[in-house]
Amino acid sequence: MSKFWSEIVHLTDPYVPGEQPKQQNIIKLNTNENPYPPSPKVLAALREGANEYLRLYPSPTVDELLQAAAKQFAVSPDQVFVGNGSDEVLAFAFLAFFTKGEVIRFPDITYSFYSVYAKLYGLEYEEVPLLPDFTIPVEQFFDSEGGVIFPNPNAPTGVYLPLAAVEEVLVHNPNKVVIIDEAYIDFGGESAIRLINQYDNLLVIQTLSKSRSLAGLRIGFAFGNKELIEGLNRIKNSFNSYTIDRLAIIGAVAALEDTVYFAETREKIICSREKVAAQLQLLGFTILESKANFLFIKHNLLPAEVLYTKLKEKGIFVRYFNKPRICEYIRLTIGNEEEMDRFIHEVKVILHT
Ligand code: PMP
Repeated sequence: MSKFWSEIVHLTDPYVPGEQPKQQNIIKLNTNENPYPPSPKVLAALREGANEYLRLYPSPTVDELLQAAAKQFAVSPDQVFVGNGSDEVLAFAFLAFFTKGEVIRFPDITYSFYSVYAKLYGLEYEEVPLLPDFTIPVEQFFDSEGGVIFPNPNAPTGVYLPLAAVEEVLVHNPNKVVIIDEAYIDFGGESAIRLINQYDNLLVIQTLSKSRSLAGLRIGFAFGNKELIEGLNRIKNSFNSYTIDRLAIIGAVAALEDTVYFAETREKIICSREKVAAQLQLLGFTILESKANFLFIKHNLLPAEVLYTKLKEKGIFVRYFNKPRICEYIRLTIGNEEEMDRFIHEVKVILHT
């Protein structure tokens, strides 16, 4: 390989996604997917839509979905942006709002895609260590040079920052964009979307991948004042006007409209999370308080890597991060009741052998 090519290949270390194992009959608790299927109304809409519309290009302006999202989140359609999963929305937001030479800030520990995007776009960044209890040190995000981004609840910890603290970060960064990544907000947190009319520097990002069981469909949203949304549209249209396919639009609209099913599955996951947390505590685990669809847990005697490996041998996949400070923990996605019972059973077996 010539020097020129090898430099391009090594441009940036890419994001490493969680394992997507190919075996049958495994229990997959490693990438925070929803254990329940999408709403039956989504499946019906997709079947009908495929037959009728798939031969046609989708709407580049995704109007129907903007309307549905605006209605659901009580904003106006020009305050909504739709992307191909929130990872794409994040990619566009980094390009649109963060500037080379101005240092942006995000927590150390957080969603590992942020540093990948920053490196890809040549942005400088400062990683602000979490406090010993894994909460975000709010004041250290004041007066950033280039802007701020963090997930709320944070990933992979599940720790939630109350909205009043988010507001403080907004107030103390009046001329910089603050991005709140709310991938997991529906599992017990309060969304910052209601603040977008008050703070023109706020961009809130959400996804249908987690609480709406549509990780495979790839729909993410950004909510913010209309100038920010216009910025994202300009970036998107410079790449590909048709990033959202017809079926994704149809499925997303149906998912947003079925609020009853959404509330039911969300409640089931929250209940399971609390039940499993209590069971794990009795088994000697330390558990961070989570407002997400996962738990960040460590056993007081059994090393995380050993637990991860032993579970994997039993066909149960959880997430292990081989990184300083968090390598003592595993992240456990909340599955359905049967999966959680099996998980607890296998953990007991591992602890007693
Ligand atoms: N933000 C956070 C914090 C996440 O954990 C994830 C899921 N890996 C995403 C964004 C991206 O989700 P999606 O692209 O499926 O919307």
